[in-house]
Amino acid sequence: MKFTIVSKGDEKSNLLEEKLRKYLADFQFVFDEKEPEMVISVGGDGTLLSAFQRYRHRLDETAFVGIHTGHLGFYADWMPDEIEKLVIAIARTECRIVEYPLLEVIIYYNKGKKEEHYLALNEATIKSVEGTFVIDVEIQDELFERFRGDGLCVSTPSGSTAYNKALGGAIIHPSLESIQISEMASINNRVFRTIGSPLILPHHHKCIFRPVTEKDFLIGIDHLSFIQRDIQSLQFKVADKKIRFARFKPFPFWSRVRGSFIGE
Ligand code: NAD
Repeated sequence: MKFTIVSKGDEKSNLLEEKLRKYLADFQFVFDEKEPEMVISVGGDGTLLSAFQRYRHRLDETAFVGIHTGHLGFYADWMPDEIEKLVIAIARTECRIVEYPLLEVIIYYNKGKKEEHYLALNEATIKSVEGTFVIDVEIQDELFERFRGDGLCVSTPSGSTAYNKALGGAIIHPSLESIQISEMASINNRVFRTIGSPLILPHHHKCIFRPVTEKDFLIGIDHLSFIQRDIQSLQFKVADKKIRFARFKPFPFWSRVRGSFIGE
């Protein structure tokens, strides 16, 4: 088996990375940064998000494992003192592969610039660079609403516990192949009206955001954010590809939700 390790880069994560690399080499596993079959992230959820973005071109061939060196994460669910146990599990046991849905984002531009394709594990966000954010939201090619406010967030089921949750979105089990649109501070009064509730779209539905006046936006894809100019539209749907997690111990989604937000 070929593996690679993505470290958060702090001292604790780097030390753990070194130890893990040595242990795995002792079991004859091959370190291969280019074509890994297993990507182990050491750090936090943000580290797993960046490992996912780095290896998103190899989703069919790669399984992900997350070790946290801070507090328990959603994706990073192994603790530093469990790495010997993890290495033995990798070497001796058949892992279970758990697949989670992803979000596909396509940004179309004016003036003939070629569209850009992105995949998100948590979510995509769109906000104005300046002034009120105004965008037409179309669902299944029909105008649904003209949104005015701070911005919109489109999340995956596993991302529903991240930014989406802070926006009042629902928590969705990752076995439900869907995407969720949640509002950031919509303007609602006698003149302007939005639905005001998060919307959950099934696998076969797509949603398009069409800018009304402003064409430059601040786009967030997971932990990354960048300004995109002259946008014609943005399309969101459940991606055809999924992320694969290698599971060596049971850690059900609802236990993770309870552990993260309610406590034992
Ligand atoms: P960060 O270090 O600020 O992490 C933010 C927090 O989000 C961390 O505690 C992390 O553990 C948690 N997190 C990440 N993915 C999660 C998930 N799927 N479920 C539950 N918690 C999760 O930033 P980062 O490490 O660069 O992570 C980027 C993520 O931060 C974004 O994808 C977004 O979801 C989240 N975020 C949240 C808010 C908010 O809640 N208001 C605002 C901005 C970004």
